[in-house]
Amino acid sequence: MGSPPICSGSQATLPSKLESRPPRERAYVALGSNLGDRAAHLRKAREALASLPDTELVAASAIEETAPLGGMRQPSYLNQMVLLETGLEPRRLLEACQAIEQQEGRQRTERWGPRTLDLDIVRFGDRRVSDSDLIIPHPELSDRDFWRRELAELNSHER
Ligand code: AMP
Repeated sequence: MGSPPICSGSQATLPSKLESRPPRERAYVALGSNLGDRAAHLRKAREALASLPDTELVAASAIEETAPLGGMRQPSYLNQMVLLETGLEPRRLLEACQAIEQQEGRQRTERWGPRTLDLDIVRFGDRRVSDSDLIIPHPELSDRDFWRRELAELNSHER
């Protein structure tokens, strides 16, 4: 008599498929706009982030209006933060954010200048990145009270 099969049918393939997927991490992305239809730019950014591969938009903070930073005369900003669960690597998420900024007509001019859409990766799980073009946690987190408020709001919804 042979021994009984350990596993049979479709169940046999399921564990290896799951194991091949990298675990998703929690990424906090800050959205800002101070040109054109600011609320529409934020909405389109949320939609674009939610439709990235292997990514779910789990929660969005309230939208807050803030004065521009850097002392330039320019319109005020609408700001919001979203919480993503993503299997993308931080660099891949940065590239996606930059593509979404371009899609919304962002022109890269002066550092603190007005923009249709600005996307910043504020946190990405417990990761620490310090490359020339990507720093995580975002170096301006400690200077921006509204980011800290938005982070607290998103974490208060955590289950
Ligand atoms: P900004 O003017 O805020 O759009 O910043 C532009 C530059 O910040 C980009 O060229 C990015 O490469 C760089 N950068 C560094 N760290 C981050 C981050 N955590 N999130 C987004 N951009 C970043």
